[in-house]
Amino acid sequence: MDPKTYERYSRQILFREIGEAGQQRLLESSAVIVGCGALGTALANLLVRAGIGKLRIVDRDFVEPSNLQRQTLFEESDALEALPKAVAAQRRLGAINSGVAVEGIVADVGPKNAEEMLRGFPLILDGTDNFETRFLLNDVAIHLNVPWIYAAVVASYGVTFTVRPGETACLACALESGDASRNNDGSQSPTAVAAAGAARGTEDTCDTVGVLGAAAGVIASIEAAEAFKLLLGKTELAGGRLVSFDVWSGRYQSVRVARNPECRACARHDFRYLEGDLQPHLTMCGRDSVQIHERRRQLDLAALGRRLAPTVAEVRENGFLLRFRVPPYEMTIFADGRAIIKGTRDTSVARSLYARYIGS
Ligand SMILES: [Zn+2]
Repeated sequence: MDPKTYERYSRQILFREIGEAGQQRLLESSAVIVGCGALGTALANLLVRAGIGKLRIVDRDFVEPSNLQRQTLFEESDALEALPKAVAAQRRLGAINSGVAVEGIVADVGPKNAEEMLRGFPLILDGTDNFETRFLLNDVAIHLNVPWIYAAVVASYGVTFTVRPGETACLACALESGDASRNNDGSQSPTAVAAAGAARGTEDTCDTVGVLGAAAGVIASIEAAEAFKLLLGKTELAGGRLVSFDVWSGRYQSVRVARNPECRACARHDFRYLEGDLQPHLTMCGRDSVQIHERRRQLDLAALGRRLAPTVAEVRENGFLLRFRVPPYEMTIFADGRAIIKGTRDTSVARSLYARYIGS
């Protein structure tokens, strides 16, 4: 290792579990993060500063003022410009550590593109905000035989769980039985219960109860440490435990989750989230809006903006997305045809707005 590189990472090299050989291995490693919100930004910051070799970040969303309270890679100017999070994150991370190959991709990871987005990386990291995508990541990770780390945060608590296919329980083992704490001593973990509830779509979201940056920071840090262990081949220390932390109550729990021999995903290889063509549209966490995943097509956003300008209000286009207002709605259109319609939770309203302004 050259002296400049050694100096840069010297405090991490001094940590005996990493050392110079470990640092070298880290510099040659890679990972992909799906979702670049509170967890994704904190996690990306830790990995890039630590000197991971290559990091891909896939995110479907753009920066808004309400993100700045907890999404640590973004600045006011990113929100003002409505930059896609993947683009803003890539820029910021490039300034933090120019030695890391950071690749930001503006896309929604779904069954159609999941393998294309995730294949080739030895580790998949969860920065998403919904269980539909998490079960998809679980399916893909088992299918590709690659470890992945689940993480979720809401209000003052969060949970994380490392899955090593074939070695540890998977997310479906932990949650699909509907009893996340079945391996516990009987005392129910509020976080595990919340996670199980969220898996069934019945629990609180950051939309309804908010989320603290402090909680995201703790969970992202645990997730990052697990990532380092996996990337360094210290797998005996990683995985199998559902770890939850509440920064407000101070409660911490680490529960071993046993593999379910009948598990849909890791035992029976029923990859229904990967094989399915679920969710043509989806209500997003964090705001009153509907996302439309239209059939993929390339849009000329500048031309579309010029065409719409006479009939809609506040047309803005920044090379990545087109935004305009049709009061009381606000529509944001991405170059791949995807749209986020703000101001409604009614998918039929969103669909009709999309058809009217973008085309059916
Ligand atoms: Zn399983």
